Amino acid sequence: MEKYCAWCGIHLGTIEAVGKPGMVSHGICIECAEKLFQENPLQIQYFLNRFEIPILLVDDDCRVISANDRALELTCQSLECATGRLAGDVMECKHAKAGGCGKTVHCKACAIRNSVTHTHQTGETLYRIPAFQNLIQGDREIKVRFLISTEKIKDVVILKIEEVSGVQQGD
Ligand SMILES: [Zn+2]
Repeated sequence: MEKYCAWCGIHLGTIEAVGKPGMVSHGICIECAEKLFQENPLQIQYFLNRFEIPILLVDDDCRVISANDRALELTCQSLECATGRLAGDVMECKHAKAGGCGKTVHCKACAIRNSVTHTHQTGETLYRIPAFQNLIQGDREIKVRFLISTEKIKDVVILKIEEVSGVQQGD
């Protein structure tokens, strides 16, 4: 699959063994990342809005630095509420609510946290990793399946939510 910078369109290379022939993925090139990180969080959000899928920009501990509108629709609605908080808290993860994002025994098996940590430590891009999360909506618990991709830019990780689907209770 061919990969291009979503900002300037430069070709970023080929991702092997994923996607169908002719499929295209988007990321960001180093030059655009340099420009982006000189901006303030609101401008970063404006840039992230160029992606059509929900995107969270997180640090190595899954703390939200910025998010695009699509991601805020899924989570806590405002950038002010999301930034500086851990992704599990922003997404209302059941385990984060119980013991804090990253601090419970369940967090070791969290595909989102593990993918962010892996990408941050190794620089390796992960593509469409399945993640099952128990989220709290109001007083209801729902199980949600995400497909996430992670990519390291400078010292932060772009967490892309490629797909979201509800999972039936009881399975
Ligand atoms: Zn670029």
